[in-house]
Amino acid sequence: MNGFIDLHCDTIYKLRMARKEGKQVGLRSREGHIDLLRLKEAGYWMQTFAAFVDLGEEKDPALAAMELIDIFYQEMEANKDLIRPVTTADQVIENQKNGLLSALLSIEEGGVCRGNLALLRNFYRLGVRMMTLTWNYENELGWPNTVIEGGGEYLGRNNTEHGVKERGFEFLSEMERLGMLIDVSHLSDAGFYQVYDHTTKPFIASHSNARAVCSHVRNLTDDMIRKIAERGGLTGINLCASFTAEAATEEETRGTVEGLVGHIRHIADVGGIGCIGLGTDYDGIGDRVELSHCGKMPLLVDGLKKAGFHESEIDAICHNNVLRVMKDVLKD
Ligand SMILES: [Zn+2]
Repeated sequence: MNGFIDLHCDTIYKLRMARKEGKQVGLRSREGHIDLLRLKEAGYWMQTFAAFVDLGEEKDPALAAMELIDIFYQEMEANKDLIRPVTTADQVIENQKNGLLSALLSIEEGGVCRGNLALLRNFYRLGVRMMTLTWNYENELGWPNTVIEGGGEYLGRNNTEHGVKERGFEFLSEMERLGMLIDVSHLSDAGFYQVYDHTTKPFIASHSNARAVCSHVRNLTDDMIRKIAERGGLTGINLCASFTAEAATEEETRGTVEGLVGHIRHIADVGGIGCIGLGTDYDGIGDRVELSHCGKMPLLVDGLKKAGFHESEIDAICHNNVLRVMKDVLKD
């Protein structure tokens, strides 16, 4: 059993969009990259579902997040024969023993809290256990990787000047106090180092690869990888084609298993095997990927074996590292 634990997908966001168009879709629908039966067949243990909010699309981001969380719990209720919401590593292991998948709830875009700690605490009470300070926009908490046009295209150089704002530091303290995973994916380079300086617990990049292998602003430098590893955190390997391989044109980039294994090898060499997890970004990335849906994840294990990774190393990447971080950070 592979025991995949995935730290990031946008499936709930996709469901909300489809339902707005009147489609009757849920987590059993086989329209996107992720559905429950394929997760089960592929040997998943846990899927993290992000309440992802695009500040450029939503007039009321907090309301959008509440709708996404409602869809998450509607789906948990409708599919409780297959999957259960969790807030701890022990619950993941318990569910796995009982043949059940686990679901962790996260937020991608700290701006949904409108800079208000009361909203952060209420999202925690609703089961949210992981949050990025930003997505691709500046918000009350900080600045993203780089200048983004319309929230979509990554332009220009890495933002090394603007990081976490005053309110963002208050959020970091409160997230650590509550027992919530701080996720630095999408945060600027300057922000990364401020998170490192102003926190004490492990923190994660839920879906980012190695910049030395593929020079994309969303990927981590070797120094960042070392800092994350030193703190006991990890980065989730992202399947996205443009985060995996550089090419002359966007169309030529490919998210191959070989490419992903190259990132894993590099990150292991730089920060050790303990700082690697999975953060597929399924339903948030295009289709130029060899692992074209969650049912294909076992091919990654085949690729790792072929590249000479030992069973214990593969288990660390697929689930043990994330379970360790959850045990270190999450309280209940
Ligand atoms: Zn993302």
